[in-house]
Amino acid sequence: MSNSLRIDNLHANVEGTDQKILKGLNLEVPKGEVHAIMGPNGSGKSTLSKVMAGNEEYEVTEGSIFMDDTNLLDLDIDERSRAGFFLAFQYPHEIPGVSSANFIRAALQARLPKGEEIDAVAYYKSLYEKMDLLGMDRKFTARSVNEGFSGGEKKRNEVLQMLMLDPTYAVLDETDSGLDIDALRIVAEGVNNMRGPDKGFLVITHYQRLLDYIVPDVVHVMADGQIIKSGDKSLALELEEKGYDWVTAELAATA
Ligand code: ADP
Ligand code: MG
Repeated sequence: MSNSLRIDNLHANVEGTDQKILKGLNLEVPKGEVHAIMGPNGSGKSTLSKVMAGNEEYEVTEGSIFMDDTNLLDLDIDERSRAGFFLAFQYPHEIPGVSSANFIRAALQARLPKGEEIDAVAYYKSLYEKMDLLGMDRKFTARSVNEGFSGGEKKRNEVLQMLMLDPTYAVLDETDSGLDIDALRIVAEGVNNMRGPDKGFLVITHYQRLLDYIVPDVVHVMADGQIIKSGDKSLALELEEKGYDWVTAELAATA
């Protein structure tokens, strides 16, 4: 029984092209830990998260992704979700005509055995608790998913979905972008609330600011489709101060 989200030698292309984005990426997030990925724009961070979730825009040409003993690459998108994987998108989709409350309810319903129904009273109790935790107005439940939401509202909504679905492993792709400092604190609190020995988190961020609130066990630097350096949380501060060029320079010097 392995107890981690583990990626080995992952290669991925844009589907139907020879445009390589992930180029032999290795990463292991043990259960109970929070890891951060930082890296310049265009290094493939969002692609990595979408490949993990099973997005069909990309084709995996080599390598593996295991969530504990489950091979994620064998599963469809919805099966990955039901197996305990969650991705909070950098750019959440709008779903006109489907209310947030019904959307989350349907996702939870899909996890129940056939014939079993969600208890509506318990569902709303739990939903409202989590919305209170995230400082979200009740009116959100009736609004279409992400339609007309501000950037910050979309990000809170992603975290609300995460709290409700209670995944084993969660990837948050730049959940901090578009959030002011108060919203950032609240969102971090949501994540910190879920942290525990049975959960693993991968937090993708461009700024170290988020990591003041979600303190990571390990920080990885991604560039050109690979993890090129890993360290403790002080690495994030160093990156913030010095940028990314010194890491690539250091790598070139040792190559
Ligand atoms: P990051 O999240 O680190 O900023 P992305 O994963 O979004 O990086 O993108 C990595 C690179 O791959 C970029 O150059 C981007 O333009 C390209 N890319 C990502 N997805 C696609 C796609 N579906 N079609 C074409 N190019 C893509
Ligand atoms: Mg991105």
